[in-house]
Amino acid sequence: MNFASDNTTGAASAVLDAITAANDGARMPYGNDDLTQAVERQVREIFETDATVFLVATGSAANSLALSVMTPPYGSVLCHWTSHVYEDECGAPEFFTNGARMVPVDGAQGKLDLADLAAKAGHGAGDVHMLQPSAVSITQISELGTVYATDEIGAVAEVCRARGLKLHMDGARFANALAALDCAPADITWKAGVDVLSLGATKNGALAAEAVVFFDSDLAAEFPFRRKRGGHLFSKMRLLAAQMQAYLTDDLWLANARHANALAARMAAGLAEVPGVRFPIVNQCNMLFPVLPAAMIQGLHEAGFQFYDDRWEDGMVRLVCAFNTRETDVDAFVAEARRLAETAA
Ligand SMILES: *Cc1c(COP(=O)(O)O)cnc(C)c1O
Repeated sequence: MNFASDNTTGAASAVLDAITAANDGARMPYGNDDLTQAVERQVREIFETDATVFLVATGSAANSLALSVMTPPYGSVLCHWTSHVYEDECGAPEFFTNGARMVPVDGAQGKLDLADLAAKAGHGAGDVHMLQPSAVSITQISELGTVYATDEIGAVAEVCRARGLKLHMDGARFANALAALDCAPADITWKAGVDVLSLGATKNGALAAEAVVFFDSDLAAEFPFRRKRGGHLFSKMRLLAAQMQAYLTDDLWLANARHANALAARMAAGLAEVPGVRFPIVNQCNMLFPVLPAAMIQGLHEAGFQFYDDRWEDGMVRLVCAFNTRETDVDAFVAEARRLAETAA
């Protein structure tokens, strides 16, 4: 039973069926096909605006290529110190921006601290010796599983506006935020001041498909060349488009995210009753970060449960539920934690 991440599972069957259905016949390559164009329209409808949409196959590509058109090489991108663009992309953002620097910002619960952000957003601006702050990247949901509320995004956007910075959102788990906030996609993106969104689908049910959504269409002008140069202009693009179309059709993305969030809430409620378990991070979506006694962590691993436990403060673990996580697996985890707590007492 694996709670390490939401990409330890495969793809949703509706997505696989859509790939099979799109497989027949000949269609023009490189996105010049009706399916890709239909997905672009679908994204515009869902976000209720005239966005420019590009498909890529990984979230790292979506983020790095998005940032490559949001900062000059001598710019800096402000992001939370836990963020994927800072910690988990092997320097791809620096590579694709031709050397812009990711600058870590502090903040509780995985979200940017506004005072630290504002200080860093003004640092060095106009000074020829220093990097020029150019963009901010926020992660929705955050790497600690928390959600930026609409007004919190607006507050970050206000700092960006005051300093002339562009705002990027890493939405690898965007659907989980949408499900938690129960709002319209537009409310937490362009209406709140987001210029470019990396819209993830892979973790929540696709096989390998993400979209880069430009609400600021001026920024999109260079992107086709960046994507091709970065190796993400797929010749059989329709097979990526089929995934994204199935993901967004009939609210599959929301149903999947609601399931993952609900299972994580079930797990949190169960663990809250177990002596010795603490929750320093609030539980809002499909990722939990409880602190467990060392013996319990070891016991759970020995019982066959997989999860990460060595990246955060002492005793903090990460438990992630996916779109198809089973209640019985969640309940088994909680039961084993309870048994271990009782044995230790
Ligand atoms: C998983 C993830 C990504 C995308 O990662 P890839 O492995 O490149 O697809 C991006 N951002 C966040 C926050 C993630 O968790």
